[in-house]
Amino acid sequence: MPPRKKSNRIKAEENYLKGGIVPETDPDYYIVRLRAPAGMMTPDQLSGIGRIARRFGIENVHFTARQTVELLHVKHDDLDSMARSLKNNGTPIGAERAEVVNVTSCLGTKHCKYAVIDSLSLAKKLDEKFFGKEMPVKVRIAVSACPNGCTSERLNEIGITGLRKPERNMGLCTGCGTCTFYCREKAINIVNGVITMENQKCMLCGFCVHACPYNYINFHDAGYLITLGGRRGRHPQIGRTLFIAKTEDDTVAVVEKIIYWIYRSIASDKMLPEQLTDEEFEYFRGQVMKSLKPLGIEGFIPSSAYALK
Ligand code: SF4
Ligand code: SF4
Ligand code: SF4
Repeated sequence: MPPRKKSNRIKAEENYLKGGIVPETDPDYYIVRLRAPAGMMTPDQLSGIGRIARRFGIENVHFTARQTVELLHVKHDDLDSMARSLKNNGTPIGAERAEVVNVTSCLGTKHCKYAVIDSLSLAKKLDEKFFGKEMPVKVRIAVSACPNGCTSERLNEIGITGLRKPERNMGLCTGCGTCTFYCREKAINIVNGVITMENQKCMLCGFCVHACPYNYINFHDAGYLITLGGRRGRHPQIGRTLFIAKTEDDTVAVVEKIIYWIYRSIASDKMLPEQLTDEEFEYFRGQVMKSLKPLGIEGFIPSSAYALK
């Protein structure tokens, strides 16, 4: 008896097992999710997507919560041809399943006045190194350039938040109080006509630095707060603080250790946050610290309640 003909759905899933192709409610149609590192595209890439969508009769594109674009209601027979066109446009098909998926980022120092790190540069480096890597579970990475957390980075398996420690300059504080209005955490007080800072309340956002008209407060160390095991969804969970790196390159090296550990140690039957018990997390943190020492990577230890949560 000749083998039974496979349905379109099964064929497509085999062909694109590792890609961002998701069957719709109607099994003859697919959502095609694109790779958009840091959620950035050039105007040419954007118009290219429009041209491709028109050519394949797509009525709508969707902008996702994780900064990618999806083409909706794509016919099975168009998938291969569309994949080629998207690749030529510099916006190839993305990732969706048990792999490192789209790396998201806020706009960072080049565009946002609150930013304390170049989140776009970091997100692009992370994308180049890790995007699409096959993993036992889906791994989402997000970067925010300050504790405002516009990418909700701490609700991702790996989150990175830019921090800056404020430091009082030697000089004469006039006690004008401007910085106290800018500090949303009420971590600055005027005592005897000069400021005092309460480290335990400080979020290391650096907003007070911009506020002082006399440059009495300065940036000290930059920090890249790396969190592990966050998630959105049915049971949201904030990632735990793993490490605070001092530089962009050190951050990439720490993320590499995390990816390697997930690859080697995590089972495929549950999402990472469900598997990350307190004991597992502490054990892993110890292992990471040990492995970073020979690389000369040191953490930044701020005296801040926020960073240590
Ligand atoms: S997280 Fe901070 S730096 Fe990034 S866009 Fe939001 S406010 Fe700006
Ligand atoms: S860096 Fe700390 S003290 Fe300065 S504004 Fe932010 S929370 Fe307040
Ligand atoms: S640190 Fe600057 S802004 Fe704050 S009270 Fe002193 S002079 Fe005013």
